[in-house]
Amino acid sequence: MVTPRNSLVLVLLAAVVLSVPGCRDGAEGGKAVTSPCAWVESAAPRPVAGLDALAAAYVRVDLAPDLGHLDATQRAVLDHLVAAGEVMNELYRVQATPCYEELAHLVQAYDGPDRAALARYFAINYGPWDRRLHYEPFFGAWPHPEGANFYPLDLTDAEKARIQDPAAGFNGLTTMVRRDQAGQLVAIQYGTFFAERLTEAAGHLRAAADKTENASLKAFLLARADAFLSDDYYVSDGLWMDVDSPVEVTIGPYETYEDGLFGFKASFEAFVTVTDPVQSQRLAKFKDELPWLEQQLPLPDADKNPNRGSESPIRVVDLVYSGGDTRAGVQTIAFNLPNDERVREAKGSKKVLMRNVMDAKFQKILTPIAARLVADDQLADVTSESFFLHTLWHEMSHGLGPGRIVVDGRETEVRLEHKDLYSTIEEAKADLMGIWDILALQAAGRDYFPAQITRQQPATYLAGLFRSVRFGIGEAHGAANAIQFNYLLEKGGIVLDEASGKFRVDHERFFPAVESLLREVLTVQARGDYAGAAALVKTYAVMPAALAKALENLEGIPVDIQPVFTHYPDA
Ligand code: ZN
Repeated sequence: MVTPRNSLVLVLLAAVVLSVPGCRDGAEGGKAVTSPCAWVESAAPRPVAGLDALAAAYVRVDLAPDLGHLDATQRAVLDHLVAAGEVMNELYRVQATPCYEELAHLVQAYDGPDRAALARYFAINYGPWDRRLHYEPFFGAWPHPEGANFYPLDLTDAEKARIQDPAAGFNGLTTMVRRDQAGQLVAIQYGTFFAERLTEAAGHLRAAADKTENASLKAFLLARADAFLSDDYYVSDGLWMDVDSPVEVTIGPYETYEDGLFGFKASFEAFVTVTDPVQSQRLAKFKDELPWLEQQLPLPDADKNPNRGSESPIRVVDLVYSGGDTRAGVQTIAFNLPNDERVREAKGSKKVLMRNVMDAKFQKILTPIAARLVADDQLADVTSESFFLHTLWHEMSHGLGPGRIVVDGRETEVRLEHKDLYSTIEEAKADLMGIWDILALQAAGRDYFPAQITRQQPATYLAGLFRSVRFGIGEAHGAANAIQFNYLLEKGGIVLDEASGKFRVDHERFFPAVESLLREVLTVQARGDYAGAAALVKTYAVMPAALAKALENLEGIPVDIQPVFTHYPDA
């Protein structure tokens, strides 16, 4: 339960006159509105029909990583980190949804037959708007405010222009924009707006710092606690890069996607994780292979990039608790932070892969997809281990291949030359190179993987293509997967069995086809060839009838998971 209890904020909020298009705000005949949430309180909203089916898109799954390797001190640290994370979760609700409390009360009071689905869907979406379906309202008819709750709901065009003017001071990453008593816009630092709860969160971080025996974690926690109230996150973002502890936390205001109006404002979130010591050791060995892999890439030597090996660190962890922005809607399996470019230049960024979230998605989504679309005799080759390995090598592959390039004697970057197509081509590269890396290491006689990997990796990759294309080919990851699927089908690496409607890997043709497409992709990158990239997208990022029909077969399979953190259940 959160309301900003800071007295200044209460004064400011009381002065806010909200009006949401399409709903009555209780102001009649020019009478002043007393409550900023009158638009909610005066309504008797109903859920949309078919809410059960909408909620069924998210399958509930227990995430209960093994904490057996932690000692009592580390468990106590974990408790405090989760408590701080729970504050992030509550603050994010305030940021995401105007009048969250009032809306939540209406959800609680609703007693129709679909009340359980409504409560669950409201919790998944952190409000009455469907994050998976373009923020369509599913409870009531209020349109989703593009700027979430970061700005007043009744901004005029002139005010919007003012907010975008950097000189006006409203575009800060960590401010809420409100109206003062005179109705003028003011920007209030998070440290002030959310003072009471952030003080509480800071207290938990300091308590954890007090207990931990890990110096790098302690330094981060103390600096982060200060940042909550000072709104200066720079130093603590840098210290987070150095954290090397079995218990870790990623906590604060990070991503700006929730601010759909301008993308200025950062949302609170938290990931509380424990590292996987076995995977981390294995990872260190994988990293040593990157220079060798760069040398083996199907690309002329002149286009190879021997200096790219030392990029971002990667960590493999299990998620113990998540809250806030990352918990809403579709769940991430990996993140790459911090976003502050100053920290990235000085120290790079850290990629964190969440093994247990990956496993949950594998069990609940990839397995049923494979059962419907992968040939029966190859089904046993679709494995959780291969799904994890592919994700891991996908991430590492972003650091291989052309980055800075020379085009017509001009120094430039692939990103600048490929512009709007960059993400699609780069994601296709990382996917292809991810599987190519594993098969190349295996072919070279390295002993990282079991012998079955040569069957398991392609079959799992095939199932993964369907999972990604399912989100649509209008977006970079979906388009990248369509390119791979259609190319491999054309070259015979993937074969459709007309009778069963299922697909199989042709193991003779698979690797050569992957390598051939990887060569094409790397070549358009090395040349900064926009026309070549566009041709690949135009030819292969399409939805042929066979693929569309396959996707129709996936109806009823959940789209994502709803995590239940067994060690730290929601109140
Ligand atoms: Zn990627």
